Amino acid sequence: MTTFDVIIIGGGPGGYVAALRGASEGLRVALIEAEQLGGTCLNQGCIPSKTYLKNAEILEEIEQGKQRGILVKDVDFSMEGMVSYKNSVLNNLRMGIQSLLKARKIEVFNGLGLIKNSQEVEVISNNEKTTLSTKNIIIATGSRPLIPKVDGLENVQYHTTDTIFDLKTLPKSMTIVGGGVIGVELADVFSSLGSKVTIIEYSNRIIAMEDEEASKALHKKLHDKGINILTNHLVTSVSEENGCKMLVVEKKSGEKDVISSEELLIAVGRTPNNSATKHIDLAYNGAFIKVNDYLQTNISSIYAVGDVIGGYQLAHVASAEGLTVIENILGNQKKMDYSIVPRCIYTNLQIASIGQSENDLKSKGVDYTVTKYNLFGNGKAQTLGKKDGFVKVFTDSKYGEIYGMCMVGPYVTELIGQGSAYMSLEGTVYEMAEMIQPHPSLSEIFMEVANLSIGKGVH
Ligand SMILES: Cc1cc2nc3c(=O)[nH]c(=O)nc-3n(C[C@H](O)[C@H](O)[C@H](O)COP(=O)(O)OP(=O)(O)OC[C@H]3O[C@@H](n4cnc5c(N)ncnc54)[C@H](O)[C@@H]3O)c2cc1C
Repeated sequence: MTTFDVIIIGGGPGGYVAALRGASEGLRVALIEAEQLGGTCLNQGCIPSKTYLKNAEILEEIEQGKQRGILVKDVDFSMEGMVSYKNSVLNNLRMGIQSLLKARKIEVFNGLGLIKNSQEVEVISNNEKTTLSTKNIIIATGSRPLIPKVDGLENVQYHTTDTIFDLKTLPKSMTIVGGGVIGVELADVFSSLGSKVTIIEYSNRIIAMEDEEASKALHKKLHDKGINILTNHLVTSVSEENGCKMLVVEKKSGEKDVISSEELLIAVGRTPNNSATKHIDLAYNGAFIKVNDYLQTNISSIYAVGDVIGGYQLAHVASAEGLTVIENILGNQKKMDYSIVPRCIYTNLQIASIGQSENDLKSKGVDYTVTKYNLFGNGKAQTLGKKDGFVKVFTDSKYGEIYGMCMVGPYVTELIGQGSAYMSLEGTVYEMAEMIQPHPSLSEIFMEVANLSIGKGVH
C-alpha cells in the first residue's frame, strides 16, 4: 500500500489549498472529497452568493440610472437564467481546481473519508472501502447549515443556503431567520429581485458582531429598500397553511406576532461536519475540533483547519490555516495569526472590517483614538452616485499604530485589502497619510482619514 505524506479530508478552501501547497513542496498528497471540489465556498457559499449579489446590483443600478438620465425600458430577468449563469461560474471554478490538482499530481478520491487511526484513512465510495496509509492527516471537512430547534420546523418545507441558490421561481415573499452576514446578503438579493423580505433576528441589531455604526447604516439601507427587519425577535413555532409558512415570533418583551411568507430561509449559523472523526478519540471545543496554535489536534499527526475548528468561519481563513498546516508538516513551526483577518459583507452597501473593533478595544481598556471620514467628501464616490458610507480607523493614541479599521460603502470589500497591507506591515497612520493615492479614487479615503487622524485633515 502507498503511504502518503498527507491525506486531506475535504476539498473546500481549507483542504484543496493545503493540497496544492503540500504538493508544490514535494509532499505526496491525497485529497478526499465526498461531494464537489471547492466545498461550501464554491458550491453553496461565497461564489453563488456573490454572483447573485452582482445580479441584484445590476438591477438596482438600472433603477438608479433614471437619476443619471439613463432610461432602460422593460427590465426583466429569469430566475432560471440566473441559476444557469451561477452554475456556469461554479463549473469554471471547479474545473480550475480540478486541473490544478491534476497538474500537481495530487491523488483525488471521490468518497467519504473516515479516519481509522492516526495513520489510516478509509475512503467509502459506492459501498466500496479503500484504506489509505499516511504520515499526517488534515481534517478540512467544513460545516453545514445549523437548523435551530423550533416547534413545527421539521414539518414545513424550508430552505437553507444548500438549496436557495437553485430556486427556479422568485417567491412573492420570503422570511429569513437570522440577521447575520448570510441573512443580510440574501435579504438584499431577494429584495432587489422583487420579493417582499422579512428578516427575523434575535439580537438587538443585524450583523451584531460588526461595528454598531456600520450595522445601523446597513439596517437603514435595507429598511429603506423595503425589507422588514425585526430585531429582538425569537421564532417560537412554524407551521404551513395553504402553502404559506407561518412563523410565530415573540419579542423579548413577550409580545407575539405571526409572520407569513411563501418561502422560508433558515440562516442562523453553521455546524461542523464531524463524520470523518467518529472512530478516533479527538478533543473538541463544544462541537468544533480543538486545535493548538499550530492547528494540531490532541493527536499530533492529525491537524484540522477551516469551519470544522470554529472561530472565523471564512474561506480565506480556512485557506490560510491550510497553508499554515503544510508549513508545520514540513517542520517549520508556524502559528496562525488571527489579528488581521478581513471580514466582509457584500450587500449593496458593503461593509468591511479588519483588526480590532471598537468593542474589542473598549473591553480591553486600551487607550485608542477613532477617526472617521465620510465618503460624501470623496469625488469618486460622488461620480458613482454611491456616497453613503465612511471609513473609521482605530489607532493607538500615542504612536498612531493602526489597531483596526471599519469601512462602509461601495467596493470597500476590495479596498479593505489596503487595510490588510497597512496592518500586516505594522503601519501607522503617519505612513498611511504619506501614501499617494490615485485621483479620483475611493482609495483616497485612506489618505484622508489618516491625515485627519494626525490633525492634518485635507478636505
Ligand atoms: C451563503 C454563504 C456565503 C458565504 N460567503 C462567504 C464569503 O463571502 N467570504 C468568506 O470568506 N466566506 C464565506 N462563507 C463561508 C465559507 O464558505 C466557509 O468559511 C468555507 O467554505 C470553509 O471552508 P472549509 O474548507 O473549512 O470547508 P467547506 O468549504 O465546507 O468544505 C468542506 C468539504 O469537505 C467535504 N466533506 C465533509 N465531510 C467529509 C468527509 N467525511 N469525507 C470527505 N469529504 C467531506 C464537504 O463535502 C465539503 O466539500 C459563506 C458561506 C455561506 C454558506
